[in-house]
Amino acid sequence: MKNPSHCEVNMVLHVDLYYSISISVLQNSFQNCCFTSRYLSSGADVITTATYQATLAGFVKYLDLKSEEAAQLLQSGVYLAKEAVAEFLSESRNSERRKPLIAGSIGPYGVFLHDRSEYSGNYVDSMTKEELKAWHRPQMQSLITAGVDLIAMETIPSQKEGEALVELLREFPNAKAWLSFSAKDGKCISHGENFDDAVKFPIKSDQLVAVGINCCCPDIISPLLMSANKTRGTKIGWIVYPNSGETWNPNTHYISSLEREPVNNQLAKFALEWKELGAKWIGGCCRTTPADIAELRATLTLDLSHD
Ligand SMILES: [Zn+2]
Repeated sequence: MKNPSHCEVNMVLHVDLYYSISISVLQNSFQNCCFTSRYLSSGADVITTATYQATLAGFVKYLDLKSEEAAQLLQSGVYLAKEAVAEFLSESRNSERRKPLIAGSIGPYGVFLHDRSEYSGNYVDSMTKEELKAWHRPQMQSLITAGVDLIAMETIPSQKEGEALVELLREFPNAKAWLSFSAKDGKCISHGENFDDAVKFPIKSDQLVAVGINCCCPDIISPLLMSANKTRGTKIGWIVYPNSGETWNPNTHYISSLEREPVNNQLAKFALEWKELGAKWIGGCCRTTPADIAELRATLTLDLSHD
């Protein structure tokens, strides 16, 4: 897996469906495969597996599975993504499209706790890096064994957990990955560290294809990138895939995507700015739709043709 060259921008995909019902999505191959295919048809070059909330310990605890069965269930997320890619390629008549990559999603430890601490990352205050590595190891091992093209270490709220994941990645020296933080404002990641500080260790890793931000409001992305561009240098590019900018309400949740219009081209609107700031991978996270991805692809394709 090569880094994209300077003029290439990849689009990544990560959808809210994966967040809310990852277990049932894993067990519903037809729905997931078709759903993912819509994003591929809309222009996504990378899809993430529906494993953000899926952990071996969670499957053992909540589904009463043996650890081998839990590993198989986690890996089924990769096989479903491969199915979607194969289906897309067999139907695609556009020979210029590259083969989509499959990124195996690993979310923060906090998703296992079911107490919304993945949004604060506060649990790291009482955990060591070794404990965090021990937690993430079986998921990373299973996804790599199942044959993902790269690992998506995403929506990570704290510097400590980000560093633990980058250290853990060294145990799989042939694997590539990206590391993406969640953020609370235009300067800080969710746990409170400056984004500029949080990227200092990860950007030295030869295994990372990108470092960045996901699942935040689109309008704080540019300030975050600007705050750390001096630190980033030229060795590595940013990855950015914000959500739609809608606010999560614990009582009403989001409105159904069927009732909602696309996000006023927010991704496309910001994408060229992010590209100028060093983004090499741009996409959409929660609540972004195939229409958003299509608009993003059209905007970037047009821009790249002028480079
Ligand atoms: Zn998201």
